[in-house]
Amino acid sequence: MGTIIEDANKEATGSALAQKNPKIVFVLGGPGSGKGTQCANIVEHFGYTHLSAGDLLRAEIKSGSENGTMIQNMIKEGKIVPSEVTVNLLLKAIAENENDKFLIDGFPRNEENRAAFEAVAGIEPEFVLYFDCPVEEMEKRLLSRNQGREDDNIDTIRKRFKVFLESSLPVIEYYSSKDKVRKIDSAKPVGEVFGTVKALFTPGQQTAAS
Ligand code: UDP
Ligand code: MG
Repeated sequence: MGTIIEDANKEATGSALAQKNPKIVFVLGGPGSGKGTQCANIVEHFGYTHLSAGDLLRAEIKSGSENGTMIQNMIKEGKIVPSEVTVNLLLKAIAENENDKFLIDGFPRNEENRAAFEAVAGIEPEFVLYFDCPVEEMEKRLLSRNQGREDDNIDTIRKRFKVFLESSLPVIEYYSSKDKVRKIDSAKPVGEVFGTVKALFTPGQQTAAS
């Protein structure tokens, strides 16, 4: 729970956002499914701004914020950080950016994330990109990517897979029931996957790979 001023600020950010009416695409998929890699390609070709919820949380830890230790502990355990924290970071990043097209990568991770974002931001995603990849392939990628992440060790990776299956897949099912999911097989080489992604962002070909 925030103070009255914090709550008022949040409402102000929310309504400022609704006025800006940005176009939002959620990019979901298990850890190591290729979200970050493909988002970089989409940014380059289609002029979106890439907001990785995980990167925003890691930046928050680095900035020495009062939530830093809590966030760090949750990431180490592969747990989902309280919605309030993540939603605020995302809304701030959107409000501060001049662009009106955003890829939100790695969020919403559970039903509560989804409901909180829609309630506070007052925005629904244009569509949801879902990178579908077998667990064995994702595990291989995570263990070999060497980005110095504290959560890329086998123990945390297994916990992240479990959280993805139990908490994040239901979000994808929710959007699927609203016909908003564009599912892509991301076990293929990067260029091939991007070929499919590209078609989805090219006007007139929206249904090419759904
Ligand atoms: N995380 C979270 N909420 C989010 C996004 C990330 O709590 O909305 C935390 C969670 O602990 C997750 C970690 O940050 O396991 C890393 O997320 P990231 O999206 O960077 O990992 P990826 O799935 O891309 O490997
Ligand atoms: Mg990522």
